[in-house]
Amino acid sequence: MESEIKRIHQDLLSGRVSCTGLVNRKIEELKQNSHNTANLVLTETALEAASEVDQKISSGKKIGLLEGIPFGVKDVFLLKGSVASASSNFLKNYQSPYSATAIQKLLDAGAIPLVKENCDCFGHGSSNENSAFGPAKNALDETLVPGGSSGGSAVNVAKGYTAFSIGGDTGGSIRQPAGYNGIYGLKPTYGYISRFGLMAYASSTDCVGPLSTSLEDIRILLNTMSGKDPRDQTTFESITISEDLFHEGYPANGLTVGYYRNFIENETLDGGIKKDFFALIEKLKQHQVEVKQLEFYDTDLLVSTYYILAMAETASNLARLDGMTYGRRIIADSLKKGYALTRSHYFTEETKRRIIAGNQILSHGHAEEIYLKARTLRNRITGSFNRDFQEVDLIISPVSPEKPPQIGGSLDKPLEMYLSDAYTVGFSLGGLPTLTSPVGTETGIQITAAKKQEKEILQFAKRLTELV
Ligand code: GLN
Repeated sequence: MESEIKRIHQDLLSGRVSCTGLVNRKIEELKQNSHNTANLVLTETALEAASEVDQKISSGKKIGLLEGIPFGVKDVFLLKGSVASASSNFLKNYQSPYSATAIQKLLDAGAIPLVKENCDCFGHGSSNENSAFGPAKNALDETLVPGGSSGGSAVNVAKGYTAFSIGGDTGGSIRQPAGYNGIYGLKPTYGYISRFGLMAYASSTDCVGPLSTSLEDIRILLNTMSGKDPRDQTTFESITISEDLFHEGYPANGLTVGYYRNFIENETLDGGIKKDFFALIEKLKQHQVEVKQLEFYDTDLLVSTYYILAMAETASNLARLDGMTYGRRIIADSLKKGYALTRSHYFTEETKRRIIAGNQILSHGHAEEIYLKARTLRNRITGSFNRDFQEVDLIISPVSPEKPPQIGGSLDKPLEMYLSDAYTVGFSLGGLPTLTSPVGTETGIQITAAKKQEKEILQFAKRLTELV
């Protein structure tokens, strides 16, 4: 599909639509929408920004490519002047004191934030059902979950309520909902985009990334949001990815693509997805792509390693929510009781489960046995990726073992939900760039490369759209 950003840009330039008209229409769609994607619609600020863009155009001034383009922001980002709730009761009235770096860069380029989007609270979940605002609903079938945690963002993009959305991905939260709603979603290399102003879930895997309907928009947004940020020491200066990459007549032959045997032979993998995945592999071979079968760690081990680290980190990160500095507070007759009442009342069951497990994992006597072991395994997983990328250029895999389940089934089966992250969490532990592309199988395909190879992923993804 062509670039939505460029299409809107052309419409604005040619006068086919006014920015105010466009923003008004999208706001109306967001407010009326039956998918429960919007925690907060930013009507006033969006219309103000739109009218400035219209004035600029009518006075003959030039506008930048992103100027006037309406977008969505997952409600775990700070955006100055608006509430950042993390879809939690805890922060339902919490006003952002500043804007996240990634969002600020889009604001500086003139893009217009329209909506703070529904998600699993604090990013905890794979179905968007763990939200104080209730579940968002899948774009293609409202009885199904949209995936999580960036469910609202994926649905807004798929339905066209936003031109693109910005999500956070700790263990799959951009890629899995992108797959469930038939759009693109990229988790870049860890450190590619600043996390400053993204509420911390598991800091060692938290990433910021775009969800969109085209590869070209992913490219534009990566270039806009990336770069070194003194406020996030993990960030680095990255190259600008040129538009030429899509016109270079990129040959697929000569490429070596790997896939993990044990991902595909996993008995939890949906039969239809498995069949389509093998058909895709055959197609690649027909086009002279060398395909290699690789061995990797079992998905159960990947899920355990990820959840041990993610729970430990979230227990530490969320310790700051004690009713004193941020969000809601219940006053009791002692400070300790106040903390306890506030935290037990305002965190959801799922978040409490993770905090309790995380503190257990980090506690004296358990840390060596559980936490440090998971750290060691993570190093081995990273080593395994390094070896694999000596042999292959890219790795393809399904996004999720299953198709989106019905709404209402996931919250009381946490273990099943954790296991559904089987194919996304490993790449997060490796800090690798990985893209969900809506081709190949019903829930798309995941394309992963070695660190900082975003360009190679986009090139291959483009080629795939031509092959399938
Ligand atoms: N589903 C995973 C979890 O709950 C990933 C979530 C995320 O990436 N924020 O941890």
